[in-house]
Amino acid sequence: MRAIFSASVFDPASSIHEVRSRIPRFPHGTLRLPLRDRLNMEAIVIVLFRVAVMLMFRSIKVLCLLMLVAASAVARPLVVIDAGHGGHDRGGMPGQRVPEKGYTLDVAKRLNGVLRSAGFRTVMTRSSDEFVGLGDRCRIANRQSNAIFVSIHFNGASNYDAFGVETYYCRGSKSAALATAIHRAVLSATGTMDRRVRSRGFFVIRRTNVPAVLCELGFLTNRSEAARIATTSYRQKLAEAIARGIRARY
Ligand SMILES: [Zn+2]
Repeated sequence: MRAIFSASVFDPASSIHEVRSRIPRFPHGTLRLPLRDRLNMEAIVIVLFRVAVMLMFRSIKVLCLLMLVAASAVARPLVVIDAGHGGHDRGGMPGQRVPEKGYTLDVAKRLNGVLRSAGFRTVMTRSSDEFVGLGDRCRIANRQSNAIFVSIHFNGASNYDAFGVETYYCRGSKSAALATAIHRAVLSATGTMDRRVRSRGFFVIRRTNVPAVLCELGFLTNRSEAARIATTSYRQKLAEAIARGIRARY
């Protein structure tokens, strides 16, 4: 009897009718209810236990994912987006027909949108047509603890045939690597002339204490390049390319 009972307890597959038929000498009904109850209880406990384990693992998985997302958000630098020129400073060459300051602000705003959608924290040194001094632009970047600085410009030259993109950094391997990543992304998106990554001591990339680059995104003095820059789709392409370069590094 003990053997039969244990078999029925530990083998959930054995039916209650099968167990009852193997112990005919017991009066009908004396074992039926307790045994059935016990089997039912075991099935419920097993199901509840499995559900509890499943929920526990899912909770741990969700918790780990949340921790990973939080960790990556903290590790990612804040991007200081610097729209070149503004206000009385039109940018470009003296007497240049197409002013630079409007296009730098437009691309900076587009870059701001793309980066924020990608989960980056951002600060813009200017968000309207106002003059901001070069020292103030650097101070905005230098008061951030974990930041990078990206300055947006368009080029101009007395040689109207000059066209293409240049990306500048001043010093440091982090600035050089960021400049290279952005330069590659912009080149591949636009297919324009590669005027290389260059090291130069421009004020805003020399006086910033964080990885800093200055992008010259094309020549407004070149008729065909200026025509491309004048379209919103091209400026959006530039912004997305710069964001891709930043994401390649961070
Ligand atoms: Zn400029």
